[in-house]
Amino acid sequence: MQIVVIGAGYAGTYAANILARKTKADITVVNPRGHFVERVRLHQRVSGTSPAHAPLTSMLRAGITTRIGTVEKIGDGLVTLDDGASLEFDLAVLAVGSTAQPMPGTIPAGTWEGAEQARAALATLHSGAVVTVIGGGPTGIETAAEIAAARPDLRVRLVGTAVAGGFAEGARRRVRAGLDRLKVEVVEDGVTAVADGQVVLRSGTALATDLTLWGIVSGVPDLAARSGLTVDEEGRLVVDEFLRSVDDPRVFAAGDCAAVPGARMSCQASEPQGATAALNVARTIQGRELTPHVVRFVAVCVSLGRADAVAQLTHFDDSPRRAYLAGRTGAVLKEQVTRGTVFGAKAGIPFR
Ligand SMILES: Cc1cc2nc3c(=O)[nH]c(=O)nc-3n(C[C@H](O)[C@H](O)[C@H](O)COP(=O)(O)OP(=O)(O)OC[C@H]3O[C@@H](n4cnc5c(N)ncnc54)[C@H](O)[C@@H]3O)c2cc1C
Repeated sequence: MQIVVIGAGYAGTYAANILARKTKADITVVNPRGHFVERVRLHQRVSGTSPAHAPLTSMLRAGITTRIGTVEKIGDGLVTLDDGASLEFDLAVLAVGSTAQPMPGTIPAGTWEGAEQARAALATLHSGAVVTVIGGGPTGIETAAEIAAARPDLRVRLVGTAVAGGFAEGARRRVRAGLDRLKVEVVEDGVTAVADGQVVLRSGTALATDLTLWGIVSGVPDLAARSGLTVDEEGRLVVDEFLRSVDDPRVFAAGDCAAVPGARMSCQASEPQGATAALNVARTIQGRELTPHVVRFVAVCVSLGRADAVAQLTHFDDSPRRAYLAGRTGAVLKEQVTRGTVFGAKAGIPFR
């Protein structure tokens, strides 16, 4: 049995390690680089408070083959790589994650390549320079806060139509207070263009900027669509309740690239999906009945530098509760959860 896992992020790494524990199949993981990117720490990579990556060899269990490359196409039991090589598979897990679609004139902070570029650009900025982060969701908030905490000599601005909009009132106010404490200027407006050292707002105002980062994660790699598999309007692979492609029963999907009803793009959703996909691949090999995936959320955590964070508790369906944790307690919780995601992916012990 040949299993190919495409993408070694949270979902793919977790799935591969579960498969190595549960099956005797030959498992190959294909990833564009030889390291695991701790994507939930990319804002720390930008500001220099974490390397945010680890060698894949330290993340994958013994016996798993790593193939550095990018999958160009998923065919009939075959994946084709960008170097022209191809790998046969009996079963595959698609776990290629998500991307960013930055506005021209901005650098995406939510991808590895973008974070590297942002980090280099930040290092060239002198005291008093203005950094603008676009995006009022968790990625934008964390990026602006982390830079403000690490580089208090810069002026940091966060622009978004609804900053912390997904939070309940109490947690939203607390996020705003945390940003305020870090001297992050919050501008609630849309952005229509970034050019010539200016961020142009929907209201018509133009704000001077020295570096503009795109703090929004959206869209997915077009691999599934390019391979002729059924995708939704965002390009995510359409799967059944077992996380299996509706076109090809040999292909399972997990993480940001899978269209799982009720899930939002998050590590919190990706790892349980990696577990379901891996367990159902193992069950397919064993000829056993597959188990349906269950979506459950518990919280949304945003860090505000290293010493503060807000953890908005949620109902299982991801709607916010009134309760939240903040301050040092929130920061400790956020750090433990972040470490837990790496520990979980590495251990490959399904928690569903
Ligand atoms: C700054 C930031 C903070 C975040 N904070 C949180 C948080 O606190 N909590 C939370 O739940 N989520 C958070 N997220 C979201 C979370 O990081 C993603 O939802 C998560 O990484 C998705 O996991 P994944 O395994 O689907 O994809 P990824 O982790 O993106 O991994 C996908 C992998 O597939 C590889 N790949 C892509 N295309 C190909 C190809 N064609 N062939 C082979 N390999 C390919 C990629 O290079 C990558 O290694 C945050 C994101 C950012 C950017």
